[in-house]
Amino acid sequence: MTIEDIDKEFFFHPFTQLREHQQHGPLTMVEGHGSTLTDTRGRTYLDAMAGLWCVNIGYGNTEMAETLRAQTERLPYYHTFASMGNEPVARLAQRLIAMAPGEMSKVFFGNSGSDANDTQVKLVWYYNNVLGRPEKKKIISRRRGYHGVTVMSGSLCGLPGMHAGFDLPLPMVHFVRAPHRLWEQQEGQSEEEFVRDLADELERLILAEGPETVAAFIAEPIQAAGGVIVPPASYFPAIQEVLRRYDVLLIADEVVCGFGRTGDTFGSEVFGVRPDLITVAKGITSAYVPLSACIVSAPVWDVIASGADKYGVFSHGYTYSAHPLAAAAAMTNLDIIERDGLMRQAKARGDHLAERLRAEFADHPLVGEVRGYGLLGAVEFVKSKDPLTAFDPALKMSAAVVQRARELGVISRALPASDSIAFSPPFVVTEDEIDEMAALARQALDDVARDLR
Ligand code: PLP
Repeated sequence: MTIEDIDKEFFFHPFTQLREHQQHGPLTMVEGHGSTLTDTRGRTYLDAMAGLWCVNIGYGNTEMAETLRAQTERLPYYHTFASMGNEPVARLAQRLIAMAPGEMSKVFFGNSGSDANDTQVKLVWYYNNVLGRPEKKKIISRRRGYHGVTVMSGSLCGLPGMHAGFDLPLPMVHFVRAPHRLWEQQEGQSEEEFVRDLADELERLILAEGPETVAAFIAEPIQAAGGVIVPPASYFPAIQEVLRRYDVLLIADEVVCGFGRTGDTFGSEVFGVRPDLITVAKGITSAYVPLSACIVSAPVWDVIASGADKYGVFSHGYTYSAHPLAAAAAMTNLDIIERDGLMRQAKARGDHLAERLRAEFADHPLVGEVRGYGLLGAVEFVKSKDPLTAFDPALKMSAAVVQRARELGVISRALPASDSIAFSPPFVVTEDEIDEMAALARQALDDVARDLR
């Protein structure tokens, strides 16, 4: 049996068209170096997505291998329940608090962005229960947002595909529009009016639900999987004014933006977000080992800590919470990013990416928008620019372009909610590699467009 046959026979793939997988089988990668992946047949690909927006220091880093070997020999695992600790995790928590924006106090560790966002909601609920506000539990999220796949974090996603078949979203989750200029900004509406419109929508929802029932608002600084949607500069300040008025906490989901993808340490710093709770994952270890964290502000921590009087033990945590291998990997990953100036490099490469994507796509008749920030970019396809008309979703335009690009040797990612393809390469990507990614993606679009006629 080939590895592909074994895969088809036994492996239940996440986020996969299961019927098509049975026909076509997997593409199996066996090796990675820098921004390049190699498959079982020896074909190489430029990974324009750093895996799933996460291998920020690039593949095959030997310092990470050495750290993992050394920590495995010293202490591969011990739990952190009931006041047990380990060295790497205490140091990592201290470092994250020093790095995080605002008045942050404590770090709770998990294993994925999904479980961290789930934890955030439990923290918010616990907080309001300690405060004696048992009815203040609703969470507001945004359409096109992506926050994970657990029952709660999947509910927080503003992507209908994430709910279908799973009986989601949970009833306490509500949605407002995303700040997606292309589709949400009315003709003739200034940016200021657009932002006002979005903030008013949020306020109307809070008032309609009753402010005493609304606990938190969750947002990615840049909505990644929903289409790389970059908010107007005045968006978060306007949203936060509303949240403060009604005593609604803000959870910043920094799973993609955190640790340099925007060129700054956190997307919150770039877009004026002042979070009460911050979720991080992916880039904290460059995905070498699973790790996530909830960074909790001092005022929220104070309330939660006082919950001991009411509830006794804080009964939440995972076997793998604060795993020493993951914490050691995170420390080395952050060392590498700092020492090699990779955040600055991400910004510089991001500027180059933006320039190349604009050059290849901006004037294309089937491209509605080229957008991005830092080392994040997207190209959104439309059937017509004037009048602005989307492709029939059944055509799966972005998926077709990504499939063709892969045949040409570039791995991008289709973001079906906005019919876009995404670019989020490792911070170590070279300018030449970016040129090739953009040029081959353009060729892929032209090839697909030719077949449309
Ligand atoms: N939040 C954001 C913004 C994400 O992009 C993702 C994953 O892509 C998640 C949360 C969920 O993270 P995970 O897949 O590690 O559960």
